[in-house]
Amino acid sequence: MKATIAVLPGDGIGPEVVGQATDLLAHIAEKYGHEFTFVEGVIGGIAIDDTGDPLPPETVQICEAADAILLGAVGGPKWSDPTASVQPERGLLELRQHFGLFANLRPVKTYPALVEHAPLRAELLENVDILFVRELVSGIYFGARQEQGDGDESHDTMSYSRGEVEQVANVAFRAAQGRRKKLCSVDKANVLASMRLWRRTVVEVHEEYEDVELEHLLVDAATMHLLTRPGSFDVIVAGNMFGDILSDEASVLAGSLGMLPSASLRADHFGLYEPVHGSAPDIAGQGLANPIGMFLSAAMLLRYSLQLEAEAQAIESAIDAALEAGLRTADIAGAGETPVSTSEFTAAVLSRL
Ligand code: NAD
Repeated sequence: MKATIAVLPGDGIGPEVVGQATDLLAHIAEKYGHEFTFVEGVIGGIAIDDTGDPLPPETVQICEAADAILLGAVGGPKWSDPTASVQPERGLLELRQHFGLFANLRPVKTYPALVEHAPLRAELLENVDILFVRELVSGIYFGARQEQGDGDESHDTMSYSRGEVEQVANVAFRAAQGRRKKLCSVDKANVLASMRLWRRTVVEVHEEYEDVELEHLLVDAATMHLLTRPGSFDVIVAGNMFGDILSDEASVLAGSLGMLPSASLRADHFGLYEPVHGSAPDIAGQGLANPIGMFLSAAMLLRYSLQLEAEAQAIESAIDAALEAGLRTADIAGAGETPVSTSEFTAAVLSRL
């Protein structure tokens, strides 16, 4: 098949892991007889430096002309002055909102090869396979806010409409139907009015999915259950901020933040694919970045936007095989294990495809 992929490397380790992922996708294209065209655009801090805008119109045009977007990460100390009129992270928020990418899928699973050195006891990590579905274009990250300045007060607003909750709840219930048929909805309905609407709406949508078992957890309790009984969860649906926080917490289950992929989708096949981690300025430019979250994001691109399931599974199996063979980047190397660099890990994955 022919496909055009918009490539937005961004800042910090973004360009390092995106470069490895386009090599991987080019390898897949050659092996399976596809033609992928990569068109690069700027976003985040580098886009502010180049154009003054974290999401320049040219980048939006590149994405509009593509079948899917592959993104690295944005942000870094150079642009982190809180009083600056524009932040790199705004570029990413605007991109998600521009394309109406309301459902953010973040799968988290444990790797048997890594359990031995995990911070949690091995028996807690058995059979952990969770899909987070995070609402992505509303909630407190998009509500009315008072811009930062020098004043002594500012605010952000958490607001949800019934329609916004319905569309993300439908994605989550359908995902659960294709998995182990369990959905946990996370909210803060005991305190927040917007979260009472969230819970009421999820209960109503559940009527169309009676084969799915529904559980509700308050977000504070959910942070604890995620670490004490992670194997009991199947799909977890949450609003924008709670989903953001819980899925980062869940990275501990996988071994490192560098292992988690994400797909941001709307109702058609178009999507934005990016690792969950940020630009990791502390390790940028040193060949230390774990490319697995980026690679698994590329696999999700093949699966959801291009419907190339066999190719997606080939990437996932090659990563599993590289880990089984003992290859580790520094973030997942245990005591006594010699870490490999980003490009050495990539070579190990490519050779196992
Ligand atoms: P971060 O995710 O960049 O890093 C957190 C920690 O995880 C760091 O110690 C880092 O070295 C490590 N880490 C992250 N990815 C890794 C990888 N692939 N391999 C190995 N180790 C990895 O979060 P942060 O430090 O809080 O934020 C840094 C910058 O990234 C900030 O400007 C923040 O706003 C931005 N950020 C961007 C995104 C995004 O682009 N989607 C997400 C989160 C944070």
